[in-house]
Amino acid sequence: MSQLAEHVKCLIIGSGPAGYTAAIYAARADMHPILYTGIVPGGQLTQTTEVDNFPGYPEGITGPVMMQDLQKQAEKFGTEVRFGYVTSVDFSGPVHEVTIDETTVIKADTVIIATGATAKWLGLESEQKYNGFGVSACAVCDGFFYRGEDVAIVGAGDTAAEEATYLAKLCRKVHMLVRRDEFRASKAMVHRVLNTPNIEIHYNTEAKEVLGDGQVVNALRVLNNVTGEESDIPVMGFFVAIGHKPNTELFTDWLDMDINGYLVTKPGSTQTNREGIFAAGDVQDHIFRQAITAAGSGCMAALEAERYLAAKEHMVLN
Ligand code: NDP
Repeated sequence: MSQLAEHVKCLIIGSGPAGYTAAIYAARADMHPILYTGIVPGGQLTQTTEVDNFPGYPEGITGPVMMQDLQKQAEKFGTEVRFGYVTSVDFSGPVHEVTIDETTVIKADTVIIATGATAKWLGLESEQKYNGFGVSACAVCDGFFYRGEDVAIVGAGDTAAEEATYLAKLCRKVHMLVRRDEFRASKAMVHRVLNTPNIEIHYNTEAKEVLGDGQVVNALRVLNNVTGEESDIPVMGFFVAIGHKPNTELFTDWLDMDINGYLVTKPGSTQTNREGIFAAGDVQDHIFRQAITAAGSGCMAALEAERYLAAKEHMVLN
């Protein structure tokens, strides 16, 4: 089967801002990229509502429309966008093999991995019901909509601590739900939270239910897991900050990852530990996780892939 496999210069896995931006640059550099969308074409942004912080959209834009625009732009320059899911990879040789939907093998000189990360959710039905209508997993994306209001956030790691202090600058009050009697976050981050007057910490407290009027959120039902007492906190927004999971299971046997499963790239670069394999966007970034930073690293990946191919061709010619 592999003898008949399609051979491409540049294969892009993932269809978020990192993947499409890599596609725009790779296509304009005549690398004829093929982009596989994955199961959720457009990635995490298709599950958000308004995106107000991507430069160039003074009126804002919805996540799904922005992703359609990025796809159109990538296709305009010759990217072939295909619906399909990568089920395995073999990065053992100089030419990389990627299997789509368990059947189609593609050989690629360069691979740009932009498979993103998935926010972890509590698993409450009401949390999904109000997702995008008061429930969010990104304070930087959605905090703005709750200026002057009361909000709640669940989580006690560095992300939750960072997002709580970010929200505290915008919101009247931030209720922070910590399920144990202590934080997991670093001392410095905890110090910032404790010194922010409008953050109220609820220790030993779990979110039980997101309450609303059917359209938007208006309160959060919480449980004190020591006393067993339940109460409702009136809030307009509820932020879930209990961690993200990078979509990297496919690459475990081949690429270096950090302890949380994020792909490791060379500092200042998108180069992984394997030649010709680049990683862009949230799959390698657990710190910034923004559409614009993902797009930036997608651009870097395409430029680095182009340079890698040019250097290889130069070596063959000489
Ligand atoms: P973490 O895994 O570090 O923390 C997750 C937090 O969510 C924990 O406090 C955990 O509670 C809590 N949690 C998990 N499940 C639930 C649940 N069902 N209900 C209530 N609470 C829950 O994830 P982060 O995203 O915070 O951080 C990931 C990595 O990124 C870390 O290594 C972190 O240091 C790093 N990071 C660094 C930053 C920086 O340097 N500026 C910024 C952000 C992240 P419990 O503690 O009880 O397990």
